[in-house]
Amino acid sequence: MKVLESLKENNLSSENLSFVPTMGALHKGHAALVQEAKMKNEKVIVSIFVNPAQFNDKEDFLKYPKTIERDIEIASSVGADYVYIPSVEEIYPNGYESKLILQIPSLMKNLCARTRPGHFEGVMLVISRLFHLVQPKKAYFGKKDYQQYLIISEFTKSLGFPVEVIGVETVRNENGLALSSRNERLTQSGLEDATLIYRSMKIAEELFHKNKSTKVKKLQSAITEILLSSNKIKIDYVEILDPKTLDELSSIENDFFIGIAAFIEGVRLIDNYTVRYA
Ligand code: AMP
Repeated sequence: MKVLESLKENNLSSENLSFVPTMGALHKGHAALVQEAKMKNEKVIVSIFVNPAQFNDKEDFLKYPKTIERDIEIASSVGADYVYIPSVEEIYPNGYESKLILQIPSLMKNLCARTRPGHFEGVMLVISRLFHLVQPKKAYFGKKDYQQYLIISEFTKSLGFPVEVIGVETVRNENGLALSSRNERLTQSGLEDATLIYRSMKIAEELFHKNKSTKVKKLQSAITEILLSSNKIKIDYVEILDPKTLDELSSIENDFFIGIAAFIEGVRLIDNYTVRYA
């Protein structure tokens, strides 16, 4: 495996690359994206770049975990062919405070787009730069960040990037907690309380399957109640939406998407789950 700090001299564009963009502090969720590509015998490049343009909270950016040596080991152990660790200057030669803003209003009404203003604008900016530099044939994204996955899929098509965007299912620990780099900032008791996030969505699923006329508001309040049974949890949002459009639902007549963002010990965690109607 090769570690690259720049792609300006290492021209990989002639290679058939599958791309896994990350912000580092790698875990089994990131590894699953690499493994998915390696299962299909693809050549994989993992990028590690904590993108300053997508943080609306400076403290969150500064506290973002950095474990580069371990990241390189993990990427290598799951078969990555390249790890790309660019500088801010390589990604943003003209700075990132420019007036260039990409938005997809239809997918940016709810969830993190609403409570983290500027976040997805920063994500689209970094992905467009990374796609230009890496020139991959395929790119893998986790469905743990489901809104991001939908936005990137749409943006790739709209801008005509010749990249196939592939979504990978969320990897969870034995208690159902979605793996996240931010989990590293939680204490043991914070980690235990964080399992309420997944549990609350599974309980909402049960509630719905017991009674399919359960109202959206009722499901939302059931989830909220479970989350607030921990005094460590502060809810950012609990939303129930259409899984394809992320539009609000007045009634449930099909599969539905539950999205949660919550602060635990000051750390912002997100998760989601799609409940099947049948
Ligand atoms: P991040 O480093 O958090 O920006 O994540 C990089 C990529 O890994 C994104 O496509 C995430 O959606 C994906 N990812 C993060 N956590 C998980 C997980 N638990 N399961 C699956 N994919 C994940």
